[in-house]
Amino acid sequence: AKAEPTEKICFFDQEMDEAVRKRRALANDLRQAIANDELELHYQVQSSVLTGEITGYEALLRWRHPQRGLVPPMEFIPLAEENGLILKLGEWALREACQQFARRDPPVKVAVNLSPIQFLHPNLAKLVSDILDETGMPPHYLELELTESAIIADKARTLAILEQIRKLGVTFALDDFGTGYSSLETLRAFPFDKIKLDKSFMDEAAESLQARSIIRAVLALGKSLGIPVLAEGIETYDQMNILREEGCDNAQGYLLGKPAPYSVISDDPANYATR
Ligand code: C2E
Ligand code: CA
Ligand code: CA
Ligand code: CA
Repeated sequence: AKAEPTEKICFFDQEMDEAVRKRRALANDLRQAIANDELELHYQVQSSVLTGEITGYEALLRWRHPQRGLVPPMEFIPLAEENGLILKLGEWALREACQQFARRDPPVKVAVNLSPIQFLHPNLAKLVSDILDETGMPPHYLELELTESAIIADKARTLAILEQIRKLGVTFALDDFGTGYSSLETLRAFPFDKIKLDKSFMDEAAESLQARSIIRAVLALGKSLGIPVLAEGIETYDQMNILREEGCDNAQGYLLGKPAPYSVISDDPANYATR
């Protein structure tokens, strides 16, 4: 009986080892992912609530692992943020999105996610500027999405970098609005060009008066600041009707379109064959 606790601890250690091993293996594979051409971007449409017009696309990273298949970003992005690989992945995503959208006719906006860790890059503004030059992407068709956690870490330095990038003509969206500790403080510190209201509010919009009040308040805030609001994660017509009633500017979600490869979302007749 005395041996029992020890056994339990050993068993627990083994499980931990297993999880650690799996993560380490995944991290190792991720190091090769760019070179092995295993990464791709899928694009999700963003549209005007009022007119239904397409206003842009969000680029979402996908990793096609040779053995594990499609690995969701939530499994490899936190890992890449821990070991610094996100710098390379983020750069790859930015270059790939700009390359694909640079020659799009008529031009349309593409939004690329930036990890807070990417602000540790020695010269993020120059990297963005170089990629714009290199790909011929018109700067005002590029939007960068960041969460408030990007600004909290080293506020003064981050704000200076954001200003430098904005001078290029690039715009900024505040992602996952309402989920952090200081969304309002973040909006005061930096005048974003778009507010992305987090999906969690929309999930409850149809049932909860409270969620609905918060949506209404965020839309009023956006209006008074002159910042358009996009509602994330729209899955139902009910949610779409609420957005229409409340006067929300833009929407994104499975109802309007799931993330898809560039060939699928492209209007280029050369790509029709792949639809
Ligand atoms: P996010 O930036 O908030 O992206 C929105 C996520 O919600 C995407 O998940 C998208 O596929 C999903 N989504 C969109 N509409 C709906 C809907 O109607 N219902 C539901 N249930 N989900 C919806 P995804 O592609 O799995 O990405 C998850 C997160 O991974 C992203 O959240 C973002 O934080 C991160 N991520 C993805 N790509 C990149 C990237 O290139 N760089 C960085 N730093 N992060 C990325
Ligand atoms: Ca995003
Ligand atoms: Ca989001
Ligand atoms: Ca998110």
